[in-house]
Amino acid sequence: MNFFCTHNLFSLFILIFILHFFRFNFEGENYREEPKAIVFLSKLLILFQSCNLCFASNPLLSISQSGTMLTIKSTCSKCNDVFTWTSQPHMLGKFPAGNLLLSFAILCSGASINKVLLMFQHMGILVYHYPTYYYHQRHLLVPSIVKYWRGYQAELLRKLAGEEVVLAGDGRHDSMGHSAKYGTYNIFCCTIGYIIHIVLVQVIVLPIKRSLAHLAYIQSCR
Ligand SMILES: [Zn+2]
Repeated sequence: MNFFCTHNLFSLFILIFILHFFRFNFEGENYREEPKAIVFLSKLLILFQSCNLCFASNPLLSISQSGTMLTIKSTCSKCNDVFTWTSQPHMLGKFPAGNLLLSFAILCSGASINKVLLMFQHMGILVYHYPTYYYHQRHLLVPSIVKYWRGYQAELLRKLAGEEVVLAGDGRHDSMGHSAKYGTYNIFCCTIGYIIHIVLVQVIVLPIKRSLAHLAYIQSCR
């Protein structure tokens, strides 16, 4: 009897845990933190062997792909019910969350888009093509990062206003010598231990006898 009660309590605990877990999944506002899985199509189609409404077997299925997202449309010949299922939620109203988050992850990890897409191809994972990544990067990701940085920088400078600080700066190029097309110059605040300004300079705007680092330094001081 004691074992039975203990077992029931354990089951109740598991049920509460599962309910909490599923509530977290379905109501979670942050899709980036929600766990994702790699699903084989053969395993996925097992879930579509019967009608979602009347449970009649073998409904007519049509499958479409949008990058990493699958859309399965099930049409029942018995009750004529049409059920549409997508493998991902949408972000910003129309973008499959997996596509946008994949672009975000590639950009933030510094990975090569060519290598990542090749890796997906080798494993047979459905994914978008290059133009989609560059669209995400240009129109959504970079503007978001720049907006966040400007707000973050403004807050840092507001805290430092009127304070006596020690600053240090240095430049960085993608290669040594004159082959670099772009260079960055960072201003580091030694007092608080944060980078407070970043300047990006293109080499073609360099005046004669000026180094890339020198020009970037002048711009960062403005
Ligand atoms: Zn049906």
